[in-house]
Amino acid sequence: MLSGSTDVNPDAVYRATEYGLPASVECPFCRGRETELHSPFGSALSVATYWCNHCRTAFEWFKRGPGEHLPERPGPHEDG
Ligand SMILES: [Zn+2]
Repeated sequence: MLSGSTDVNPDAVYRATEYGLPASVECPFCRGRETELHSPFGSALSVATYWCNHCRTAFEWFKRGPGEHLPERPGPHEDG
């Protein structure tokens, strides 16, 4: 087993892309990009858990990409 390597885990990249998630995201703690998918689902379906190889901390990442808007809440229809 390899040790001391900081290369991106290809298996984690594969899993991330399988779920339509980025292979790596910005770490909220160290702002590093040396992160990999830890679990496609965190404490909620709307979050994924990533692992930072730089500060060695797991964190939750919200699955909302840039330009992706939540649908507006449908209001009551009063016509008719
Ligand atoms: Zn970090």
